[in-house]
Amino acid sequence: METKQFKAESQRLLELMIHSIYTHKEIFLRELISNASDAIDKLYYKSLTGGAEGLNRDDFEIKLSLDKQNRTIKISDNGIGMTKDELENNLGIIAKSGSLAFKKENELKDGIDIIGQFGVGFYSAFMVSSLVTVKTKPYGGTEAYVWQSEGVDGYTIDTCEKQSHGTEIILKIKESTEEENYDEFLDQYRIQSLVKKYSDYIRYPIKMDMQRQRLKDGSKPDEGESAYESYTETVTLNSMVPLWKKNKNEITEEEYTKFYQEKFYDFTPPIAHIHTRAEGTATYNALLFIPERPPFDYYTRDYEKGLQLFSSGVMIMDKCADLLPDHFSFVKGLVDSEDLSLNISREMLQHDRQLKIIAKSIEKNIKNELSRMLKNEREKYEKFYKSFGVQLKFGVYNDYGAAKDLLSDLLLFYSSSEKKLVTLEEYADRMKEGQKYIYYACGESISRIESMPQTELLKEKGYEILYFTDNVDEFAIRMLMQYKEKPFKSVTDNDLGLDENTENEEIKKQNEENHGLFDFMKEALGGKVKEVRLSQRLKTHPVCLASGGMISLEMEKVLNTMPGEEKAKAERILEINPSHPIFETLKKLYDSDKEKLKKYSALLYDQAMLIAGMPIENPAEFSNEICALMS
Ligand code: ADP
Repeated sequence: METKQFKAESQRLLELMIHSIYTHKEIFLRELISNASDAIDKLYYKSLTGGAEGLNRDDFEIKLSLDKQNRTIKISDNGIGMTKDELENNLGIIAKSGSLAFKKENELKDGIDIIGQFGVGFYSAFMVSSLVTVKTKPYGGTEAYVWQSEGVDGYTIDTCEKQSHGTEIILKIKESTEEENYDEFLDQYRIQSLVKKYSDYIRYPIKMDMQRQRLKDGSKPDEGESAYESYTETVTLNSMVPLWKKNKNEITEEEYTKFYQEKFYDFTPPIAHIHTRAEGTATYNALLFIPERPPFDYYTRDYEKGLQLFSSGVMIMDKCADLLPDHFSFVKGLVDSEDLSLNISREMLQHDRQLKIIAKSIEKNIKNELSRMLKNEREKYEKFYKSFGVQLKFGVYNDYGAAKDLLSDLLLFYSSSEKKLVTLEEYADRMKEGQKYIYYACGESISRIESMPQTELLKEKGYEILYFTDNVDEFAIRMLMQYKEKPFKSVTDNDLGLDENTENEEIKKQNEENHGLFDFMKEALGGKVKEVRLSQRLKTHPVCLASGGMISLEMEKVLNTMPGEEKAKAERILEINPSHPIFETLKKLYDSDKEKLKKYSALLYDQAMLIAGMPIENPAEFSNEICALMS
């Protein structure tokens, strides 16, 4: 018989398994049992949807058999089985993990759970076995097949005898060494406790024949060993109640965490869980988790959102995207509902009214949990926000702001006066008397915004400013438009809405007096700015840019990083500090040296651009002009 080679990637993974980078070898059992359970699910599902006749739910089972003499464990199921092709495709290559994006050895050394993360469960059998034999017969098929492998050298496939449909996996357990004890996996009590630990909620009975001792009829315990006889009892090892169907107060925090980590392949415990049962317009159990950290692909296109969907305990979809709105796409978990029909197709599901009601209600559950965390566990919430805050902000912006009211109270921004993250409500509650707007400033970083000239006046007047450091921030806030009827206002905005006072009157007067100078400067800048004028907001800095129209300078920056021919352009206003000596210089030059004034205008404009973090058109020329001034 020909020995076939594993696909290259699978081979590497196998090597890793055999040399066991994973410390908990015992999880092999959990992996094989969960495969068996999936296989039964598939057949049960088929029977419910008319693809298989005469099957009875109560007949499904997973069987474990130990043979100490021959050092084998057998895991059998009466599930759907595999055809020859499936056998080859499913066990000869890594089905889903494909890319093995985690190749970096050092990551593996840290004990990353590659087994869980990449759905390579079956291979874990090689951590404890020197030979793996898989016998399988597909449901409805006539031929049975046997697959065998000792590990990296490859595998063989042949026909074999097998009475009924399903799969049998026989592991030849390795000999124990000085470092590793494999014998434990041949011990019935050890296996019993492993099933309890990892596979208790599997919904089909996991049965094992256990050897027991009992007193012989008419014997007494004090008669010694001969008073006892051995007998075999078939024991169901698992309780079969899924965690989400149990009572909340019967479940420990550890159980939730373990369930999450095993089912959703995360090393870090979840930051929160939501376990609810809803009745009424929609009946369902939901067990949802909020991860602490985003999965490695979360902010990429590869990330697939969704919740597992069960219909009365039978899984009908692994990632039901319709159950989760995009703004909460980070949530993991499952929903089990009696309201959904089993043989509903994916297409039908999308239009299912019941599913929509459930999705709405789940969205509310998540929102409430986040609000609760924000209110009662601020530190935890901030940790969460660090991971997923950007997603919430995208949520405000997307779909023309459809979810903005739901999300606005979950947002946090850094505050100039508090020097920490604050909510919009906190900001609004402490607004100064007569303050018309919620002020914000955009920039790359907090320190960069701290030094923005445009914030000087507002700070002097004691107004709090929110710092926007994410690209999406200003877009989200423009979608929001206002919070508690207070509109948002960028510090670079043309009109800051401050009270008119004598100071402003004075500036207005001076603007009028010098309009010749300012018009000249505007001409000199050749259409780069809409206006040149004196500033109300500058206190120490000589110049800054303000923006007038719909698009701010920050938005221009963000928009222009996106692909596309058309470039966005913010309306620029060059503002000059009336109390800075440069203003006197400009006035003098207007009377004495217009050529020089032209040059200075260009220099001041470039400076303002640099302060705003924008690229200048001709850096070499800028530098030459500065040097010319120096010499
Ligand atoms: P995963 O279970 O994450 O898909 P595995 O490597 O554990 O990855 O299994 C690969 C595939 O082999 C499964 O998806 C399934 O199609 C098939 N398989 C494994 N065990 C069984 C079984 N007991 N019965 C039927 N098919 C199985």
